[in-house]
Amino acid sequence: MKKIYLKHKKEESILRQHPWIFSGAIDKVDANIEEGEKVEVYSSKKELLGIGHFAYGSIAVRMLCFEKRDIDQSFYDDRLLSAWQLRERAGLIRPNDKDKSNTAFRLIHGEGDNIPGLIVDIYGNTAVMQAHNIGIYRDREMIAKAIVSTSKEMETIEITAVYDKSENTIPKIEGLEINDGFLIGNNEAEAVFENGIKFIPDWLKGQKTGFFIDQRDNRSKVEYYANNRKVLNAFSYTGGFSVYALRGGAISVDSLDSSAKATYLAEQNVLRNFDESITKKHKSITEDAFKFLDDMKYGEYDMIVLDPPAFAKHRKVLRNALIGYRKINQQAIKKIAKGGILFTFSCSQAVSKEEFRLAVFTAAAQAGRKVRILDQLSQPADHPINIYHPEGEYLKGLILYVD
Ligand code: SAH
Repeated sequence: MKKIYLKHKKEESILRQHPWIFSGAIDKVDANIEEGEKVEVYSSKKELLGIGHFAYGSIAVRMLCFEKRDIDQSFYDDRLLSAWQLRERAGLIRPNDKDKSNTAFRLIHGEGDNIPGLIVDIYGNTAVMQAHNIGIYRDREMIAKAIVSTSKEMETIEITAVYDKSENTIPKIEGLEINDGFLIGNNEAEAVFENGIKFIPDWLKGQKTGFFIDQRDNRSKVEYYANNRKVLNAFSYTGGFSVYALRGGAISVDSLDSSAKATYLAEQNVLRNFDESITKKHKSITEDAFKFLDDMKYGEYDMIVLDPPAFAKHRKVLRNALIGYRKINQQAIKKIAKGGILFTFSCSQAVSKEEFRLAVFTAAAQAGRKVRILDQLSQPADHPINIYHPEGEYLKGLILYVD
């Protein structure tokens, strides 16, 4: 295995098990390391610190372990088993769950499950995996096997197919052709359940792995607050929050997204869960949310959900992202009816909880309304945050009460 040596004092964060090594921390590297190759990482005193995947970029190594061990099938089997156990202990996988209340969850959340750069989402009997670096992509066959074999050991959910959806998530390099497709089996998309609500994930063409699993707990909070309210679900994608708001007894729910495909799927998901007495309360609007919020009149809605895409993919565009968050929140706060409930989110990893809160604070001040925080929201247990990798905390939200 090729070796890299860190500069003096640059091993401290690795000794604290932070999984990233920035290129600036590296003193020497062996010649001709390939993108994605496994490397041994040494301190300046030539002590072995662990093994990781190498990349030519600002994050040069993503650590897989902090000891000497082979990164082979048994390595991935161990990691996967530990991930299944966490989900079971967190109550996400329930033995004898006859009602199948939850059949969609995240099995591997990158650094949070000690496999940097890997996402695996479970939809019924199908796993959808996404590699975010070439090293993980090169290990995909081992990972797929580990998903299937460890699921058998758990005896609760048997995974019969693994679909790889990495075409758009890893950097393009010469000589490596990446095509989405099944690595094991070949399952059709089928309905999955989230808190008893039915959705059909679209892993072939949908965003991410086909559904946004990370809002599960927050959707339940929307259901709780929606009774007797007129709800706007802005940036609705396939209507997750809308379906919950309808089940929670909303008077009306409008799903708003700039993508016609998304608003169509939101309609379908509403139809899948309710009869006509409820579906007639739902409407889909295909429009730009910035424009819609600008044009919206005061008091049209007394509950609004704002769940935009990540406005900042990296710190360089942070300023513009914060302006974006400020703008939409300002309009929503200004125009929501008295006594209104606003759910507002940011899923940008590059925006901290404090920065997001400051953007919302500024929005409230500019809107000139009295605003109180009722609750602070984050990501669910199947998106765990490795305490040594605080960057893994990406989803943040606030429930606001607007007088
Ligand atoms: N709330 C959703 C996930 C939102 S993902 C859920 O719970 O599943 C973000 C969505 O914002 C995408 O569907 C995207 O099409 C939409 N979007 C992006 N820019 C937009 C804009 N300017 N106006 C309206 N929708 C937009």
